[in-house]
Amino acid sequence: MTQTATLSHARQLDIRDELAAYRQQFVIDDPNLIYLDGNSLGRLPKVTLPALQDAIQRQWGQRLIRSWNEGWVQKPAELGTKIAKLIGAQPDEVLVCEATSSNLFKLATAAVRARPGRHKIVSDVFNFPSDLYIYQGIIDLLGNQHRLELIPSLDSISIDPHDIHAAIDSDTALVGLTHVAFKSAFMHDMRRVTEQAHQAGALMLWDLSHSVGAVPLDLNACNVDLAVGCTYKYLNGGPGSPAFLYVRKDLQNELNSPIWGWFAAQSPFDFDLNFTAAEDIARFRVGTIPMLSLLALEPALEIILEAGMECLRAKSIQQTEYLLNLARAWLLPQGFEIGSPLDAAQRGSHISLRHPEAFRICKALIEGDGLRVIPNFRAPDNIRLGVTPLYTTYEEIYRAIKRIRQIVEEKLYNVYSSERQIVT
Ligand SMILES: *Cc1c(COP(=O)(O)O)cnc(C)c1O
Repeated sequence: MTQTATLSHARQLDIRDELAAYRQQFVIDDPNLIYLDGNSLGRLPKVTLPALQDAIQRQWGQRLIRSWNEGWVQKPAELGTKIAKLIGAQPDEVLVCEATSSNLFKLATAAVRARPGRHKIVSDVFNFPSDLYIYQGIIDLLGNQHRLELIPSLDSISIDPHDIHAAIDSDTALVGLTHVAFKSAFMHDMRRVTEQAHQAGALMLWDLSHSVGAVPLDLNACNVDLAVGCTYKYLNGGPGSPAFLYVRKDLQNELNSPIWGWFAAQSPFDFDLNFTAAEDIARFRVGTIPMLSLLALEPALEIILEAGMECLRAKSIQQTEYLLNLARAWLLPQGFEIGSPLDAAQRGSHISLRHPEAFRICKALIEGDGLRVIPNFRAPDNIRLGVTPLYTTYEEIYRAIKRIRQIVEEKLYNVYSSERQIVT
């Protein structure tokens, strides 16, 4: 490691990187800012600027309401088709709309109601809190007939397959898990867990927020029933860009959305006074889509489709391994612990490093003079470093880990207070 832990080695790796040219497709105007938070908000693709300019000036400004029939109305399904390619689904199984949380609410409620007589929703302690709140809210809404059972983790890094197996039983209506955990980056075995849910007669729902654009996915091959996911993380759709939902074809007409908005109806523009659900995935729509955000997402998806998930994953593994090697050499002696699975096959595209002073170290990274590093703090002690192979370089990883070492070695975090901002 000592011979390879040099800046010139990092630069060599960048020269050999076949995806290196993609970095130029993003707005990167500060050479002293290392951004390792693409797993919370992806960078701005350069093509998004003219696309949004056209959307606002021409499509909205000049064409006005005519734009709905000049392409807008098809956009949620059209972008769904593109996302379908990234997640191994059929073109008519994916829809882009609303927030991940709202989509989860619609699909999970439909799923639980499609399994009457069963009283359990199974999830795990790694799930994103919003997902757990949604499940708790659904249980409340349905009259407290169900309970939420959380699969534990013994090491705060991974979930034991035996514990998953033990939790799913004949009383389980729905297994709802996040595929790649937001803190540790632990990645579930999608095929195996889905199979277990089906063997017990339950429906399976995956939240792909930290997976899509980070790891190759094949929902159809794993026979997944339902999925939701986010587009502003690895897909670079921009702040609050609409999320997506997936419903396997044969389930679409069997499940009922709990929100009967006009866009979920068979013919919204008949303005019928009574609701009849649309025949396909459209029944999971609700109302008018935030079109500007949707149009910002489109060119970003093109980039990721062109780069290809297999190549992106290969680079992501190489980069997270590289990061871990540097962390072992430089940070473990400084009191850090690695908070992510060491086996690349069991993790997504971010690495969590744990330290009692994590919060103040993050502050020093973000606010320091000269070189600044943007990581992501996740309570209580995680520094989350997101590797986004479209634009993260080996040199950035090298400089970031070196900077973390310096901050801890020289206790540069001591000048910062522990007071937190609203968004961390
Ligand atoms: C980011 C994320 C979300 C975001 O939900 P929104 O409703 O779009 O804010 C949901 N679930 C997981 C697992 C996430 O990582």
